[in-house]
Amino acid sequence: METHSRSKTLIDLEKLNTLNTEGCPACGKKFELGEPVVLACGNWEGERYIHEDEAAFDKKTNSHYERRYYEAMKERPA
Ligand SMILES: [Zn+2]
Repeated sequence: METHSRSKTLIDLEKLNTLNTEGCPACGKKFELGEPVVLACGNWEGERYIHEDEAAFDKKTNSHYERRYYEAMKERPA
């Protein structure tokens, strides 16, 4: 069972190879080995891995969002 938040992931070699074809969708930089990442929603389809410090966690939906996306989402009337 999942508790408060989805556990963060550390970049391993396999992820490095897979994700670095495009890099991080939030900042555009390449990932580095051992960096903490989370699956997050943002201005892209579905959930993508981004750097943990670029993500905000929303308790209501129990999901991570890219920060700027999340801020914009909050400002919009529901
Ligand atoms: Zn990033």
